[in-house]
Amino acid sequence: MAGEEAIKLAARIIAKAKRIIAFTGAGISVESGIAPFRGKGGLWEKYNPEEYAHINTFRENPEKSWIMLTEMLELIKKAKPNPAHLALAKLEKIGKLRCIITQNIDNLHQKAGNTSVIDFHGNTSSLVCLECSRKYKLDDFSLEKIPPRCECMGLLKPDVVFFGEPIPVEALYRSQEEASKCDLMLVIGTSAVVQPAASLLGIAKRAGATVIEINPEPTPITGIVSDFIIEGKAGEVLPRIVEEVEKIRIR
Ligand code: NAD
Repeated sequence: MAGEEAIKLAARIIAKAKRIIAFTGAGISVESGIAPFRGKGGLWEKYNPEEYAHINTFRENPEKSWIMLTEMLELIKKAKPNPAHLALAKLEKIGKLRCIITQNIDNLHQKAGNTSVIDFHGNTSSLVCLECSRKYKLDDFSLEKIPPRCECMGLLKPDVVFFGEPIPVEALYRSQEEASKCDLMLVIGTSAVVQPAASLLGIAKRAGATVIEINPEPTPITGIVSDFIIEGKAGEVLPRIVEEVEKIRIR
């Protein structure tokens, strides 16, 4: 569907929907300067994720993982929410967004002002001790000496899901429940191939929800799980949609 026509249709669907959730991926943060880890220029071109971001490597050779992590955390620390994150914050503020389920670990939805965010793969804003589970705020911690250690001398790891680790139970159950009860899911900036995150789309669809994608390119779920795609950058499309929703609301 052509851009403006699709944006206006999405706004009308949002205005009518009663329980809206957003499901976001790496693409929504591209305009904040964080490249997707896969593909050209991404972090995974330099570091093989199955190796550097695998929990076994982290336990056996934490210095090696921390070399990649220091670079990743530096990149994330510098990033600021872009117009797409801010548009979702506005949607929550006007009572049209129940929650965001994000695969991202960059904390940008929270920085933008969203208060209901499920960090499906965890969040880099804190570190967790592998021995005693104590958590520390990343900002309160010096990373001059790697690997950083807890007061109990246990290894500290960013509080995110590594390869070989399960999804935190609470995030998984809450996400499945939200997906099964929504009547509209906005799927933004994700290739929808990473499991089990991508299974949430099927849950929403089977429960009867409308699924709208916002992505510059079609994905494997376009027209199969999603009802339609708005082809464009999230930072351009989302502010336009929210603008249209607001026009409908004041009419
Ligand atoms: P992905 O890399 O598989 O796919 C990114 C998608 O975003 C693609 O479909 C691409 O077409 C789209 N895209 C690119 N630019 C866009 C834009 N401006 N607006 C909208 N869409 C755009 O990402 P994924 O599906 O999220 O899976 C990657 C995994 O890696 C995730 O599970 C996540 O945990 C992790 N990751 C996180 C971050 C982050 O926190 N910012 C960054 C990279 C990877």
